[in-house]
Amino acid sequence: KLTAALGGSGFIAAYCIKQLLERGCEVVTTVRSHDKGTKVLNAHSASGGKLSYQIVEDVARKGAFDEVVKSTPDLDFVLHTASPFHYNVQDPVKDFLEPAVTGTTSILQAIKDSAPSVKRVVFTSSFAAVNGGSKTTPPFYDESCWNPITWDEAAQDKTKAYRGSKTLAERAAWAFIENEKPTFDLVTINPSLVFGPAAPHLSPGELASLNTSNLRIWDMIQGKMKDRLDPTGFYSWVDVRDVALAHVRALEIPEAGGSRFLLMAGYHTNKRIAEIIATLGPEFRELFPANLEALDDDLPGPAERYTFSTKRSTEVLGIVYTSLENSVKDTVESLLKLRA
Ligand code: NDP
Repeated sequence: KLTAALGGSGFIAAYCIKQLLERGCEVVTTVRSHDKGTKVLNAHSASGGKLSYQIVEDVARKGAFDEVVKSTPDLDFVLHTASPFHYNVQDPVKDFLEPAVTGTTSILQAIKDSAPSVKRVVFTSSFAAVNGGSKTTPPFYDESCWNPITWDEAAQDKTKAYRGSKTLAERAAWAFIENEKPTFDLVTINPSLVFGPAAPHLSPGELASLNTSNLRIWDMIQGKMKDRLDPTGFYSWVDVRDVALAHVRALEIPEAGGSRFLLMAGYHTNKRIAEIIATLGPEFRELFPANLEALDDDLPGPAERYTFSTKRSTEVLGIVYTSLENSVKDTVESLLKLRA
């Protein structure tokens, strides 16, 4: 099967590409520069020429994907993971809302106009598009929940720009399917915070390009929480390899079509992550406060914290979630290699 994986220099995309190639699929990915394209190709050099790349410098440009779609005949599937995820918000509209929303509608339009062979599009949305949409207290989340955020709210508040971009992009994708009635169907994957080994195309020393969601583990390894653990803040998570598998299975399983899939392995806290890292050896234990084990875990109690169901991801996609312990250990190992 020929799959286009958009945003191939990304963390989640890297594992989607790896798993697609392992299944024998041919993959065309998009990146923003030849330098990134070369790195991604080199990371998968064992694929026997089944991976190629094309340049899409900015997904926010109207018609950004037209050339890719026109020059790749017989595409079966499209994975759309290319969207900004970082904490450096200058302009919520230009930095987040436009690339997320226009990027999504342009790819769907390009496929409808020029790629009748495409059967399914899998779009990487987020728990951000679900969070805030529960009607119960404490909140309970599943795929029926939608973050109620509006464009204006996201445009006016830098802290809401990312969450707004994911919600509005996913809404735009489902609206496209309803209004345009294309011949392909849509699946959205809605992961919580993603941990896991750094993208395989990053070389030692390239830590500046580390994906955003692994930063708290990187901060710990650098000793930034030696005196005091940062507050956890956001406390649900999932491993990148499970997220990638969900994307790949979403392409393969016919019944997945037309659905959202919430992906969460469970809760984490900075204390739990620190305790896992501390078991790796005395030099790791020294990265944390002397009284680490006695510290309070800041996970909200059962009366305050949200609960969730990931039944659809386990029943339809067959996801068996990686444990926090394995995910953190593998992440640390990969980050140490990158630092080397
Ligand atoms: P990365 O930052 O690693 O990947 C984002 C990808 O999008 C990169 O390839 C990036 O290119 C590309 N991109 C961003 N903006 C543009 C643009 N304007 N034009 C072209 N390409 C662009 O993030 P992740 O892999 O972590 O995230 C991938 C997707 O998953 C995103 O949609 C994110 O919202 C979603 N997600 C991520 C979660 C997480 O915790 N990681 C949780 C839930 C959802 P470049 O490398 O050149 O910047």
